[in-house]
Amino acid sequence: MIVVEDLHKHFGGFHAVDGASLEIRAGSITGLIGPNGAGKTTLFNVIAGRLPPTSGRVMMAGQDVTGLPPHELFHRGLLRTFQIAHEFGSMTVRENLMMVPAAQSGETLWNCWFRRGAVAAEERKLREKADEVLDFLTITHLADEKASNISGGQKKLLELGRTMMVDAKIVFLDEVGAGVNRTLLNTIGDAIVRLNKERGYTFCVIEHDMDFIARLCDPVIVMAEGKVLAEGSADHIMENEAVIEAYLGT
Ligand code: ADP
Repeated sequence: MIVVEDLHKHFGGFHAVDGASLEIRAGSITGLIGPNGAGKTTLFNVIAGRLPPTSGRVMMAGQDVTGLPPHELFHRGLLRTFQIAHEFGSMTVRENLMMVPAAQSGETLWNCWFRRGAVAAEERKLREKADEVLDFLTITHLADEKASNISGGQKKLLELGRTMMVDAKIVFLDEVGAGVNRTLLNTIGDAIVRLNKERGYTFCVIEHDMDFIARLCDPVIVMAEGKVLAEGSADHIMENEAVIEAYLGT
């Protein structure tokens, strides 16, 4: 689904991504791991159109999508989860879901929200869809909570929920488990697996928790110093000497 060819991203003289090549197979839950500073987030940002690459190519389903802006990638079904912006914290969880289709289309957020709000039928449809998503994620009880009041793990579920408001094909998830308790992390993991199996989502996941990666991801791609160091099953990766060395070296 995604092919990254010899991608470079330089910040001044610093090569954050330094000739990374990799593939994300359709239907996979691909893990992306590596020591801090390996270039994982930068790679995500380039693939998702948030940063222009210095050189190299990103292909999606056989088409060159290098440097396309996020809303165009969004129309092709490529989504990167994003944290709930400060200004949406005062909206409820349900409202946060309802505004996704408009918000990611590249229009001004508030304009879309008010325009949509004026169209009752449209709003009813969005509300039904949002309630389905909440049910799928088992967080119906949070529908009317302000987004700023829910826990870090619940916010991650909401981020995942936002990808379900549109027809995502591939979702890039950054640090799903950071600061999330084990029970919620399992709920998030279950939601990812169900979205993969039942709805055909492809995932690429950056995560530090190796148990989580081992349970969910195949293959696992290891990055170090801006390059792909190894790729394989979690077991295979954890026995790879170059990988062990890269982690011990930091
Ligand atoms: P990872 O996600 O693997 O921890 P990052 O992609 O966040 O790695 O960062 C890779 C390197 O690039 C780091 O050394 C980081 O300091 C640097 N970097 C990231 N973004 C910028 C930026 N906007 N300007 C300068 N350096 C950056």
